Amino acid sequence: MGCASALRLAQAGLRVTVLERSVPGAEASSAAAGILGPAVEAHHGHGDGHPHPGRRPAQSTLLTLGLRSRELHATLATELREEHGIDVGFRRCGVMRVAVREEERSALATHSELVRGHALVETIDGDEARRREPSLGPAALEAIELPEEAQLDPPTLLTGLAIASERAGVVFRTATVHGVIVEGGRARGVRTEGEALHADHVVVAAGSWTSLVPGLGLESAHVHPVRGQILTTRTRPPVFRRIVFGAGGYVVTRPDGRVLCGSTEERVGFRREVTFEGIARIVALATTLAPSLADAPVQTHWSSFRPGTADDLPLVGPAGPEGLWLASGHYRNGILLAPITAELVRDAIVGEALPEEAAALDPRRFA
Ligand SMILES: Cc1cc2nc3c(=O)[nH]c(=O)nc-3n(C[C@H](O)[C@H](O)[C@H](O)COP(=O)(O)OP(=O)(O)OC[C@H]3O[C@@H](n4cnc5c(N)ncnc54)[C@H](O)[C@@H]3O)c2cc1C
Repeated sequence: MGCASALRLAQAGLRVTVLERSVPGAEASSAAAGILGPAVEAHHGHGDGHPHPGRRPAQSTLLTLGLRSRELHATLATELREEHGIDVGFRRCGVMRVAVREEERSALATHSELVRGHALVETIDGDEARRREPSLGPAALEAIELPEEAQLDPPTLLTGLAIASERAGVVFRTATVHGVIVEGGRARGVRTEGEALHADHVVVAAGSWTSLVPGLGLESAHVHPVRGQILTTRTRPPVFRRIVFGAGGYVVTRPDGRVLCGSTEERVGFRREVTFEGIARIVALATTLAPSLADAPVQTHWSSFRPGTADDLPLVGPAGPEGLWLASGHYRNGILLAPITAELVRDAIVGEALPEEAAALDPRRFA
């Protein structure tokens, strides 16, 4: 969020400094699987695969913004390739969501109803699914296809955003922000180790650590870390062409054969661990979807922290005091939503009109 917002703000003519305690993309943004899946994510409920009625408005806001942001990614990928020679691996590979148990079939039907009219969606039986994805296992009973969904390589995206930002005049500084300076009802800058930095506007984009930044008035429940683990392998030929989702996880295949299997959703604070239980669950799902992965070599694994929020919607926009803005809390979809968030942040700061969905993201709802 920091790098994408900085790029768009600098291109709008503002002088921008990014303060990062580590390196750009050090945390969740480089750990993500890179799924640009507004339609597949629209069903995301409380772990049961069914949309939760109380979350309908949030789901529809996220679906609308996500669909728009996925298209902005296509433009951003072209911009980074043509102007900077960086290929972020944007690819409209499509998503297949598979049911492997009888009781998962009704969730597929609900999901397809939810996105119909917004996205292309097709229901197919297990045999047709295996015809389209020959590595898919015998357990697959039924599937929905979402052919417009896409993927990219998050670490390359982060490198691209940082390079493009620097070329647009953004200054990157290694510094930990210890608090926002607010005087007379407006943000004046931030405090770092032993230094006060002044600015007309402050955008806090501290991911899962956002609630910990003093001066925002957020409680720890408002933005909290949700750990996700990932296990990777490599196959030749690539195991799938599409991203394949099952209940509680996914297999993401890159065109060069890299495979990312994920993920878990755990409220364990900032424990940066990969656990036996997490890996066991990921392996069980991945080898049910693609039994041939049982022979694939484990390459790497990692975990990181999705910035979850109290109502599952991001916090983008004014934080209270004039000149103080938030771009955080994007939970499972921060890579997908980065381009639209950057545009919302830029438009809010330069005083452009915002789309009506932006109201639902207003951070002052937690004030
Ligand atoms: C396993 C996993 C898989 C995921 N897969 C996907 C996916 O496929 N598609 C998708 O769209 N999203 C995915 N996500 C979610 C996505 O990664 C996040 O929503 C997104 O990266 C959040 O971006 P951010 O900029 O808010 O946070 P981060 O990327 O965590 O960045 C926050 C930055 O702030 C810095 N920081 C924090 N506090 C301070 C401070 N006080 N001073 C200075 N710097 C500070 C940190 O060092 C960090 O670099 C996934 C997440 C995980 C964990």
